Amino acid sequence: MPDTAKTGAEGVAWNLGDLYASGADPRLEADLDEADRRADAFAAAYRGRVAGLSAKEMAGLFAGYEAIADLGGKLGSFAFLSWSTQSDDPARGALLQRVTERGSRLRQKLVFLDIEWANAPEAAAARLAADPLLKRWRHWLVTTRRYRPHLLSESEEKILQEKSVTGASAWSRFFDEVHGAIRYEWQGEPVPAQVVLAKLQEGDRELRRAAAASLTKGLRAVERTTTYIANTLLADKASDDGLRKYPGWISARNMDNQIDDATVEALVKSVTGRYDIVARYYRLKRRLLGLDELLDYDRYAPLPAAERQYSWDESRTIVLDAYRRFHPRMAEIAARFFSERWIDADVHPGKRGGAFCDGCVPSAHPYVLVNYLGRSDDVMTVAHELGHGVHDYLARDRGILLAHTPLTTAETASIFGETLVFNDLFARERDAKVKLAMLVREIEGGFATVFRQVAMNRFEEAMHTARRTGGELTTASFSRLWLETQRAMFGDSVTLTDDYGLWWSYIPHFIHTPGYVYAYSFGDLLVRALTARYRAAPEGFADRYLTLLAAGGSDWPHELLKPLGVDLRDPGFWAQGLGLLEGMVDEAESLTRDAGA
Ligand SMILES: [Zn+2]
Repeated sequence: MPDTAKTGAEGVAWNLGDLYASGADPRLEADLDEADRRADAFAAAYRGRVAGLSAKEMAGLFAGYEAIADLGGKLGSFAFLSWSTQSDDPARGALLQRVTERGSRLRQKLVFLDIEWANAPEAAAARLAADPLLKRWRHWLVTTRRYRPHLLSESEEKILQEKSVTGASAWSRFFDEVHGAIRYEWQGEPVPAQVVLAKLQEGDRELRRAAAASLTKGLRAVERTTTYIANTLLADKASDDGLRKYPGWISARNMDNQIDDATVEALVKSVTGRYDIVARYYRLKRRLLGLDELLDYDRYAPLPAAERQYSWDESRTIVLDAYRRFHPRMAEIAARFFSERWIDADVHPGKRGGAFCDGCVPSAHPYVLVNYLGRSDDVMTVAHELGHGVHDYLARDRGILLAHTPLTTAETASIFGETLVFNDLFARERDAKVKLAMLVREIEGGFATVFRQVAMNRFEEAMHTARRTGGELTTASFSRLWLETQRAMFGDSVTLTDDYGLWWSYIPHFIHTPGYVYAYSFGDLLVRALTARYRAAPEGFADRYLTLLAAGGSDWPHELLKPLGVDLRDPGFWAQGLGLLEGMVDEAESLTRDAGA
């Protein structure tokens, strides 16, 4: 905690005793060996036989698999959670490393299941997938089979796996090392990227301008290396997609996300079709900041407003009340994080920054970590992570193979929980200036996930296509594609300088996880559209919503969402969420008039 007042979150620590008493608990050692023993027995019983099993045997296989995965997951969660609050303790670091290595060995023993099942003859696979005895695992059976046309022979797979260590993975790590080593210049001192990026949020324009110049200068110094890495990985992806017969650069990602290409196209079309909302907002922001021209480094400038503080107790009450008004069951589950110590909120040296929810395993319960400092953002973070917590808790009954949703719907409960709390906090606030500042932050947060990520998806599309059709790209061509796709979004509302052209080059997602970024937009807009549905027809919505959460990842996202009146392929559906964002810009304009700004 910095030198501000106490929040009441001091000493609020989770109790990991539900998993193990401590890192020295003898049960922990015994469970590590037990997991290995069971995995060996599992492999001895089923390896080479998966395709020929009867439905009854297959059900037995799943039960055995789930038990092993639960045990391994519990060990992994304990080691990770214990390290998270005291990452400067070498004993906890060593335990985490050891459990991670054991976990990786455990997975290698079990991986034959996925491969044998994907390669099982069609007739046998269809018979098992249709058997009522295996209904609980049907979605896993179906989704794992989808990879069949894209898998190579076992020996080819082994070669690709082996060579990827010195191929794509090595280039990806090289990017991290090169960019991690850059020292940007800040007031004569060498600083890491996070420091200059944070300066882009300064109120003083001169500081923002200097931060932008410093970022560009640092990136310029490594542009040849970054360009080479990017080209190599684009080519690697193209050859991988070719070998695996994926029709387009995004197809493999969509498949992992359990979303078809048409749905992603509908999302992208809807979002790019409403870029006018972005331009309208930044024209308002320019006026609010009193500038003649809004430059790229002015985008994150804050509005001045007194921030109020929320104690830990207030924050708990706000979140639980907002949850309860939506559905009592949601508040009931969230309350257990406080009363049974499933949440860690204290801020101290050695604790990991940020916030997360660890779903842990079905046989235990989720844990939430936050660093609570009492700002309204912190209240929202508590709401966000407890949304994940409620989701994970409700989905436990599906078992470890099917509890988790794909990336695209993973943020459903968290963003929804945040929305409930934001609406509450916003309604309580009476000061028009403070309200405006809150709303502006909320709008910019929404834009960062909805519009910015889709603009980045357009950049990815452009560079993958350019590499596949026209060969290697120069730094200038990457920058041109970046500026084109960013300008399409901002229109004439923000002046993007030539320097800004190089800012594609520090974003790690393009390098590490091609195609990833649209999932943020998907998740955020899905929740906004659900919120619009809830407002328009609240009757029975909350119950159906909880059923959706409890389903976890046990069916296709579009099937699970149907009962909520959602058709993901319908551009009109996405338009609803975008309409909500537009409504927030309307409100900001009207608050601007009220605040006399
Ligand atoms: Zn989240």
